[in-house]
Amino acid sequence: MLQQAVELESPSDDKDAVDRCGAYLAQEFSRRGAKVSMHREEHAGDHLKAEFPGRAGAKPVLLLGHFDTVWPLGSLARMPFRVDGVRAYGPGILDMKSGIVMMLFAMRALRSANEGNHRPVTVLLDTDEEIGSTTGRPVVEAEAKMCEAVLVLEPAQTIEGRLKTARKGVGGYTLRVRGRAAHAGVDFEKGRSAILELSRQILEVAKFTDVARGMTVNPGLIRGGTRTNVVAAEAWAEVDVRIARAADAGELDQKFRALRPFDPECVLDVSGGVNRPPMERTAGTARLFHAAQEQAKKLGITLEEAATGGGSDGNFTSALGVPTLDGLGGVGEGAHAAHESILLKELPRRTALLACLIESL
Ligand SMILES: [Zn+2]
Repeated sequence: MLQQAVELESPSDDKDAVDRCGAYLAQEFSRRGAKVSMHREEHAGDHLKAEFPGRAGAKPVLLLGHFDTVWPLGSLARMPFRVDGVRAYGPGILDMKSGIVMMLFAMRALRSANEGNHRPVTVLLDTDEEIGSTTGRPVVEAEAKMCEAVLVLEPAQTIEGRLKTARKGVGGYTLRVRGRAAHAGVDFEKGRSAILELSRQILEVAKFTDVARGMTVNPGLIRGGTRTNVVAAEAWAEVDVRIARAADAGELDQKFRALRPFDPECVLDVSGGVNRPPMERTAGTARLFHAAQEQAKKLGITLEEAATGGGSDGNFTSALGVPTLDGLGGVGEGAHAAHESILLKELPRRTALLACLIESL
């Protein structure tokens, strides 16, 4: 099943491919007794919801994930699905097709051991998580609001398999500078270099980083100018920002909005903001982690927790105040990298952990 899921390549921006993968997963969930419905999207893949009934009157647990990947169609040719004994490799295997397969088998185990006596379980898999969850976010939020807790099957942290109890908030800003073009030899003084102005702005923005507070600002992309003998009329930079605490978003935003051009004849335009709030380690998250730790102990697994700078859809559900625990999926290395792989021996162990955790809630 893992091989089939990986070989149905599903890059976020290819609706046809994502929908093919979704159709396969829908069939697998309904074969295991779920009521499956697709949330149709015109420009993204259709999101998948699978509902497993449980004891009457109990709020469901949400199993959350995504089946889009960062890998373009044809990546399989360079990095085919393969098993080398200890590991399985392939595009999206860690992030996060193994997590989806774990959901399927955990539900099979749970239902055969405990028919109908567990909480109802809702599975929600969206299709544009890797590109910001623009269409997935409202669907995820609406579902999470109706649930007792959210278990996110994103990969565990590092090869030690730590669960994720805190994630940074993520955002992006664009700095756009308009200067004035001029011949670099004939009319140099008449020019106003957008590149020079942008360079000074980037140095300002870099000062916003405060590592101790978990706030980082990374100008990851810059563009500008047309030719070396022209004073650049335009330049822009795209900046990734991360915050550990939701309360920091406003202050950071004020700093960006307060930027003014050094050269008054240049125009500076700032746009953007924080689009994924941080997943903070709330009391609800800590409770879920301790429940998982207790179940892990019974299975002979030593379970630890970690904070990560990366975001997931768990950021959205946590920000709504719904207890959220992340990193319950595959254990491996190389998400978004050519050596993306999972440890096979962890698959059944972590699947059992997931089933036991759901049963305990
Ligand atoms: Zn992911």
